[in-house]
Amino acid sequence: MPNIANNIIQAQNSIQQSIVKAKRTVNNAVTLLAVSKTRPTKDIQQAYQAGQRDFGENYLQESLIKIEQLQELSIIWHFIGPIQSNKTKAIAEHFSWVHTIERLKVAQKLSQYRPKSLPPLQVCLQVNIDGEISKAGCLKKDALDLAIAVASLPNLQLRGLMAIPRPNSGQKPFIDLANLAKEINDEANLKLDTLSMGMSNDLETAISAGATIVRVGTGIFGRREKK
Ligand SMILES: *Cc1c(COP(=O)(O)O)cnc(C)c1O
Repeated sequence: MPNIANNIIQAQNSIQQSIVKAKRTVNNAVTLLAVSKTRPTKDIQQAYQAGQRDFGENYLQESLIKIEQLQELSIIWHFIGPIQSNKTKAIAEHFSWVHTIERLKVAQKLSQYRPKSLPPLQVCLQVNIDGEISKAGCLKKDALDLAIAVASLPNLQLRGLMAIPRPNSGQKPFIDLANLAKEINDEANLKLDTLSMGMSNDLETAISAGATIVRVGTGIFGRREKK
């Protein structure tokens, strides 16, 4: 049995250490996103009791059940899985953040379905930063145009970029993603402030390159059963 509360403290500690090591300024905080896909609600409750508020889910059906069961808690839900068009309505209604926008059509639908009673949906574009074939995310060369189009949608707030680099590829893809966000800000006059990058195994590398959200699953909840 993993000790979830303890793992959260440890993850927070390594985030703080990485920030210090990277000599980043305090106002440039890093959010720990607990990736709870495939985990039962009782694990999420345990993490919540330990102070965790941001949770990431990949599979819509599963996440809707958990969101319903945990509606009394002040959880910030992040959708971090692949998005089909027919899932956009439920995602727009139940999540605060979406990290995995790779096509304009999906962004348009999310904006269309975002209830007016809720704040704008906070979104990141997923970028296929190392250009691997058949991998999720828009290509680097398409990111600027997509960012401009998404930023103009009324019920979304474009916050930044997200990537899942190939494992063990070092710091380069993270630096590339950070530079891409800067380019987009300069060329399109936007204010992207979010880099969702780094997971359990490459958290320190991602933070040294400027990550503002790190997504940690196994490091908090232990190993996942294969789905
Ligand atoms: C599963 C998942 C994670 C967490 O991965 P771990 O190796 O368990 O930390 C992070 N980001 C995304 C997009 C995921 O799907």
